[in-house]
Amino acid sequence: MLLKTWQATGFTIYDNTTCIGCHSCAMACPFGAPSFSKKGKMQKCDGCRIRIGNGLEPACVRTCPTHALTCTNEQEYHQMHRKRSLNHISNKLL
Ligand code: SF4
Ligand code: SF4
Repeated sequence: MLLKTWQATGFTIYDNTTCIGCHSCAMACPFGAPSFSKKGKMQKCDGCRIRIGNGLEPACVRTCPTHALTCTNEQEYHQMHRKRSLNHISNKLL
């Protein structure tokens, strides 16, 4: 199993060619990220790297009916979070 960071996006991507399906990663992962294919090999979200590589949004972001999901970088995320917090506070004060 090979895990590596895709530098352009920060996503953790994987190559499960050598996975033997022992489930040790699933037992160790506190986020429940690993799941297993019909062939028993570990698979997990790779951020839709092929879609991202082609300038598209991840499929889950694209299809979410309530727009609850977004795909952004850490800096934009913190800016968004600050803006939401400020809006929330100003709404409480007014
Ligand atoms: S199931 Fe997880 S821990 Fe086991 S070989 Fe595959 S990737 Fe490695
Ligand atoms: S659809 Fe969403 S959860 Fe599934 S691989 Fe793409 S980014 Fe990950």
